[in-house]
Amino acid sequence: MAVLAELTHRCPLQCPYCSNPLELERANREMTTEEWRRAIREAAALGCMQIHFSGGEPTVRPDLEELVAEATAAGLYTNLITSGVLCNRTRLDRLAAAGLEHVQLSFQDSTAAIGDRIGGHVGGHEKKLAFAQAVRDVGLPLTANFVVHRQNLHHLDDMIAMAADIGAGRVEIANVQYYGWALKNRAALMPTREQLDAMVLTIQAARARVVGTLIIDFVVPDYYARRPKSCMGGWGRRFLNISPSGKVLPCHAAESIAGLSFDNVRQRPLAEIWQTSDAFRIFRGTDWMPQPCRTCDRREIDWGGCRCQAFAITGDAARTDPACALSEDHERLVSLAATDAMAQDRFVYRRPRRAKMQPIAT
Ligand code: SF4
Ligand code: SF4
Repeated sequence: MAVLAELTHRCPLQCPYCSNPLELERANREMTTEEWRRAIREAAALGCMQIHFSGGEPTVRPDLEELVAEATAAGLYTNLITSGVLCNRTRLDRLAAAGLEHVQLSFQDSTAAIGDRIGGHVGGHEKKLAFAQAVRDVGLPLTANFVVHRQNLHHLDDMIAMAADIGAGRVEIANVQYYGWALKNRAALMPTREQLDAMVLTIQAARARVVGTLIIDFVVPDYYARRPKSCMGGWGRRFLNISPSGKVLPCHAAESIAGLSFDNVRQRPLAEIWQTSDAFRIFRGTDWMPQPCRTCDRREIDWGGCRCQAFAITGDAARTDPACALSEDHERLVSLAATDAMAQDRFVYRRPRRAKMQPIAT
């Protein structure tokens, strides 16, 4: 089991596909250091093996070192998921001394011009490169994350080359998942069918080229899929997410599903929430499934796909994920993708003043 600790929603970047909810949690509602430390101990006692410190940007929290040390003492494998623009070598040394074991660094593109426009942060790309060097100097393993979409896919080969150049052992190429901010920006992000075909060939060729030196993880675009991904490895099976204010979610996008309510680790023990809360039980296992999932031989492989996507497309989280070609809603998804892929490139940023970043740099 893994726990994603979203320490804060604050972030100096403004990615238009951010998985944070549209209603960001304010800094004054964030859990205190002591509350996080207790939640971390409870996660370890519950059976979690890994903790991913994320956000927002987790390094805005001055107590990150304490939380990493707490997780290390509790026997958890610790991973930092960061934009890399706020953390220097000195702080990284402190985090490593506290027990940090792995860093996942996100890039918006292989170039500063497009990367800074997508992230809405001038100078961000250069800071990320400097941070990547610091990670290597400290000797921590590094994964480079690239979220890909219509406006940066023409640089896919360069992104993979860049990951190798900065000394990453793994690169994650993830197509945008359309909920939260990404759903709001879907029309500006949706790749074309031609881009999809080219992307698959590029990944195949790159994997053959870098075998033994770089692992390439590839998350396919749902809207062009035939079968859905096994979202979260199944709802409430091996993953939980704790929001900045302590809400416990079965997936980081679960708040996008209207009508679900979430228990808070400030008020109830984590193990009790995991076992009994409505938000975890509602889609756990296979009993909730409609047809065609209920009698499908893949029902314990993909668990009916993504609940957040089912809700985003159909308004009903209990339907089969429309990414599945067997779903009644699949054609709708295909047609949405075709329409959006022809739309304008304009982003809606998390902070409106970032609109000044809009000039199209592709
Ligand atoms: S996706 Fe971008 S805006 Fe959202 S938390 Fe990550 S770096 Fe910040
Ligand atoms: S019908 Fe349901 S279980 Fe079967 S492949 Fe599609 S989403 Fe998965």
